[in-house]
Amino acid sequence: MARYTDSVCRLCRRENLKMYLKGDRCYTDKCAIERRPYPPGQHGQGRTKFSEYGVQLREKQKVKRMYGMLEADFRHAYHNAAAAKGKTGDNLLQTLELRLDNVVFRLGFADTRNEGRQLVRHGHFRVNGRKVNIPSFRLRVGDVVELKDRSKKVVRINEALEAVDRRGVPAWLELDKGGFKGSVKTAPAREELTMPIQEQLIVELYSK
Ligand code: SF4
Repeated sequence: MARYTDSVCRLCRRENLKMYLKGDRCYTDKCAIERRPYPPGQHGQGRTKFSEYGVQLREKQKVKRMYGMLEADFRHAYHNAAAAKGKTGDNLLQTLELRLDNVVFRLGFADTRNEGRQLVRHGHFRVNGRKVNIPSFRLRVGDVVELKDRSKKVVRINEALEAVDRRGVPAWLELDKGGFKGSVKTAPAREELTMPIQEQLIVELYSK
């Protein structure tokens, strides 16, 4: 499967936003966007103006990169959001937040969404007692995500859980740290998603 293999810090610098794609390093003064707060590349410090299309494109790229998705997956998520009842932008963000890899990250089992995706793919989690290894698996309210018994000793997961307090668990999720499990209490409301995202720009882009 295709995946992005270049430096993820370039993505933050391109979008001029700390997207916390590298875990611990993002909280130190080694963060690339702190040291070089301009887009990467030879002309990074030059052009700053975008057309209307450019602004919409950058917003879409930003959110896609934040969640570590490929274009086809992101477009698919958008079409599902557009087909559902309610505001397409809100639906899209809710769809992205309820992905299993994101919830694993939000609950603190992983330092980054990328790591969350890898852990899911490697089959470390059960959802409602059944093994699920599909990162895009969409969770529903009441679903319980649990670490498999043999995975409770994985050092990387334990280290991430130890550091969960620094990032905090969103109010729409509930973590039982000692039990190595968490659940979806409610669907995430728009106001609970505090990342600087203008989802209407993405809707405008895809509606063209
Ligand atoms: Fe982004 Fe983290 Fe790299 Fe900083 S260290 S540029 S927040 S990925």
